[in-house]
Amino acid sequence: MKLDSVHVYRFARYLLPDYYWFIPNNTKEIYLSFDDGPTLELTEIILNILAKKNVKATFFLVGENVLEYPDLYNSILEDGHRVGNHSFNHLKGWKISKNEYVENVIKASDYIHSNLFRPPYGKISYGQGKLLKSDYKIIMWSILTRDYDKNTSPEQCLYRANKAKTGDVIVFHDNIKAQENMLYALPRFIDFAQEKGFVFNTIPEL
Ligand SMILES: [Zn+2]
Repeated sequence: MKLDSVHVYRFARYLLPDYYWFIPNNTKEIYLSFDDGPTLELTEIILNILAKKNVKATFFLVGENVLEYPDLYNSILEDGHRVGNHSFNHLKGWKISKNEYVENVIKASDYIHSNLFRPPYGKISYGQGKLLKSDYKIIMWSILTRDYDKNTSPEQCLYRANKAKTGDVIVFHDNIKAQENMLYALPRFIDFAQEKGFVFNTIPEL
């Protein structure tokens, strides 16, 4: 089976119907998200870009980073964005036990107040998902820009983002590994999408 290179994980979406990959709406809303922050290097730059372009987004934060940079966590919220839990240590779900995984998410919840969770690497076992689903909406994505990937060029990253249609959940990274691609693609993508009449909003209550 050949997976669509831009609208990823259709097969997984079918297997895991309780997770949110896409949020249908009638108001041309699309949902920008940033994983892995906050970071000293990038969070403020991202917030400035979003503020300048009047865009709201959702930040899936890593607990240990929030513990280190609480002021950046507050800045994200003060700017009207939404936050989500991305575990305390950015754990890869398939490699660890159900309980250890859930405990790591709960530990992060001391620092990140949200009912949204996004599994790091998109890797979460059925059992882990089942345990977390009672307390969290599990938010996946429909467009992965691969901004963190050293084999992705800034132009490819922008190309992927520019495919966004109503309801898409787009992932960029607040992570130094993604810096070059993200900082090139993000402002250009926002301009492109806004010219087409799309509205950027935070992940809504689901
Ligand atoms: Zn991540």
